[in-house]
Amino acid sequence: LTSREFHPDDTIVDVDGVKIGDGSFVTMAGPCSVEGLDQIRESARMAKAGGAKILRGGAFKPRTSPYAFQGLEEEGLKIMRQAADEFGLKVITELMDEAHVDVVAEYSDIIQIGARNMQNFKLLATVGKTGKPVGLKRGISGTIDEWLNAAEYVAFAEKSPVIFIERGIRTYETATRNTFDLSAVPIIKKLSHFPIIVDPSHGTGVWDLVTPMARAGVAAGADGMIVEIHPDPANAWSDGPQSLNEKNYLNMMKEVNVLVKAM
Ligand code: PEP
Ligand code: MN
Repeated sequence: LTSREFHPDDTIVDVDGVKIGDGSFVTMAGPCSVEGLDQIRESARMAKAGGAKILRGGAFKPRTSPYAFQGLEEEGLKIMRQAADEFGLKVITELMDEAHVDVVAEYSDIIQIGARNMQNFKLLATVGKTGKPVGLKRGISGTIDEWLNAAEYVAFAEKSPVIFIERGIRTYETATRNTFDLSAVPIIKKLSHFPIIVDPSHGTGVWDLVTPMARAGVAAGADGMIVEIHPDPANAWSDGPQSLNEKNYLNMMKEVNVLVKAM
């Protein structure tokens, strides 16, 4: 269901009027975590000012440590929806647990499946029945073949389209948080009809590497990107070191737009 052999033409994913995979470059921007109404409203304002169409933000967070902030949960979903609606943005947010599928679907336009759940097959099957587009992150050590099979689980019910998200994979390299695998973009384009976007934030883990890798994502032919921004990255509750402040985000968007026009 996900392969080009089955479906030769590109699938354009329509997110309530925002089209992904139609040759445009769609930006999803927002904080790693929803921290409160002021923070998510300010993030939404920034996202919109830079030209993003979709607000990202986690309300259920897959944290490495159980002692770290785990997310505002349903309250986070509500205030993110409110902030997105105020600025005319769509919402992407992560679903971690089948138990929350209804509440996450209620408040979001795209449901994100995180890297740590790429092979949570029951979760993939469940989210695939919602009819909402599914942003499927590549697993931390996921091969392309495993990722395609994961997408097949999502597509199995023939209800939800898939948006692949390349977010870097674990290698022996320590200068970056993950090794951003840009070759995944043309490979997925060749093998699947569904769109692929890049996540240069988790792909690098370092804010000043995000803009060059966002530019590279455009050049590689990605259908868009998802990027972490924050009104005050130094005090972010999660992923501050890879988050862009307003000035750096607006600058990145300027550079990305120049390349998008040239493609
Ligand atoms: C995130 O988007 O904040 C996130 C947790 O991403 P990943 O699943 O790629 O680590
Ligand atoms: Mn994050």
